[in-house]
Amino acid sequence: MLRRMQDLPREAEVVVAGGGTAGPVVAARLAEAGRDVLLLEAGPDPGPLGDPRWPADLLDATRLGTSYDWGYDSGDTYPGRRVRFERARVLGGCSAHNGAVQTWGHRADYDGWAALGNPGWSADELAPLFARADEQQRVWTYTPGELTPYQRAWYDAAPAVGLPQLRHLNDLDETVGVAPESVNIVDGIRFNAAFAYLDPLRSRENLRIAGDALVDRVLVARGRVTGVAVVHRGQVTTVHAQTVVLCGGTYGSPAILLRSGVGPADALRRLGIDVVADVPGVGDNLHDQPFALLTWEGSEAIEREMDAAQAAGWTPDEQVMMKAATGGEAIFDLHLLPYSPTHLRGDGRRSWHAGASVLTPLSRGRLELTSRAPEAPPRIDHGFLTDPEGRDVARLAEGVEILREIAAQPSMRALLGREITPGPDADLPAHLRANIDNYWHPVGTCKMGPASDPDAVVDHRGEVRGVAGCHVADCAIMPSVPRATTHTPAVVVGERIARALLGA
Ligand SMILES: Cc1cc2nc3c(=O)[nH]c(=O)nc-3n(C[C@H](O)[C@H](O)[C@H](O)COP(=O)(O)OP(=O)(O)OC[C@H]3O[C@@H](n4cnc5c(N)ncnc54)[C@H](O)[C@@H]3O)c2cc1C
Repeated sequence: MLRRMQDLPREAEVVVAGGGTAGPVVAARLAEAGRDVLLLEAGPDPGPLGDPRWPADLLDATRLGTSYDWGYDSGDTYPGRRVRFERARVLGGCSAHNGAVQTWGHRADYDGWAALGNPGWSADELAPLFARADEQQRVWTYTPGELTPYQRAWYDAAPAVGLPQLRHLNDLDETVGVAPESVNIVDGIRFNAAFAYLDPLRSRENLRIAGDALVDRVLVARGRVTGVAVVHRGQVTTVHAQTVVLCGGTYGSPAILLRSGVGPADALRRLGIDVVADVPGVGDNLHDQPFALLTWEGSEAIEREMDAAQAAGWTPDEQVMMKAATGGEAIFDLHLLPYSPTHLRGDGRRSWHAGASVLTPLSRGRLELTSRAPEAPPRIDHGFLTDPEGRDVARLAEGVEILREIAAQPSMRALLGREITPGPDADLPAHLRANIDNYWHPVGTCKMGPASDPDAVVDHRGEVRGVAGCHVADCAIMPSVPRATTHTPAVVVGERIARALLGA
């Protein structure tokens, strides 16, 4: 029986702060190797797969979950509108509410990380970890015959615009194409990282899990980590540890470091935080893939076909993805995906969409603390579409045009009505800027890089500059976002840092 904490222990060999996607991977690998591990998660631990405390929406893999959200948004970044930045606050983290689509990206992404001065991170070195992630998360790929009529129509029409049909999306050498998605869905259930990595170890004495445990700060003495300060069930407690691994995610991990006094010295002093290590890059380099949603009217034909499919069974909102390249690019830099959810119209009926996202954004933003209080939400600005030459907005517009071209194929015209948004007469760049959204893949706030990089926060082993024994292992350390959705890449980061901690 995995031990669920009523009171926190006073010490552990390793504290893993954040039980989301990468956190369970790190905790599991270290516990399997015999380390004494305490996993602290700010949200609840609803138990193993099958425990009735799991909310139904976090299990149902046909659509995104909404329970236990951190409630982050864009604040005052976009006058007159707030963009929500969903993040799950529960064991399993974003793997417990996400789209369950597993993509790997392209070889160039990871070779690019290695070329920045991060040994051990090339595509060839990571490939076995991707394969292991697929196996442990029970990833499988839809066949064309399993697609809903809406998804199938896009899959069949995409070759007309030069996107060949592929068996799956996860060949690291493939440049463009369309494929059914690979998913971590088991019997209709989103098989989150807690189920995949923690459930098999729930009987171990050397893995303890505490839910409702918000890590406030990392404690440091003479440049070495000594433990963490935790808010657990309303009480502030200290847990001593020789090693602390931050797995709070792209928003959570830099926030813990900043509250600990690790970050840009001037900004820390302005908030009255004592400076422990002046590391200017903490919170910097925040970026995500900008996203645009198109909407069409439906037709009697598509409504009828989808109703029939729904009556027969499994009709997820999303099943197909395209990898496309904007002009001049040799490797795909766009994801294009058809989407037909039932929650956007307000009457329970489906609406008809496709999304476009630029996978290799040039724009960069920043995460800052608004207060030293552990529950205060940080200020989050991804800097969407701010690159000086306007490449990101131009490429996003190209993605929209490719989707329009597919929607204009005769087979698609029989299913879709008129384009509602952006609408054929819209000023496209202006529309994209006014309606910019995120693709939920923020990275980069604790950038991994060599000592020669003044913006690097952690080295290739995930160790924080100036704080021996304190590591980061989650999407925050990615120097640049891969051409991928970031669930499996987060798992691979967890695997890679766990290996480094074990000396491999
Ligand atoms: C709505 C949505 C849909 C998505 N769909 C997909 C998809 O289909 N496919 C895909 O590949 N990717 C998808 N993603 C992205 C992907 O899920 C994330 O990039 C990935 O799961 C992030 O992993 P992580 O370990 O870095 O962070 P997280 O999974 O966010 O884990 C961080 C954990 O740390 C906890 N935490 C934070 N701060 C503290 C603290 N101070 N103390 C203790 N605990 C703390 C959090 O509660 C959380 O559990 C989606 C994301 C969202 C939001």
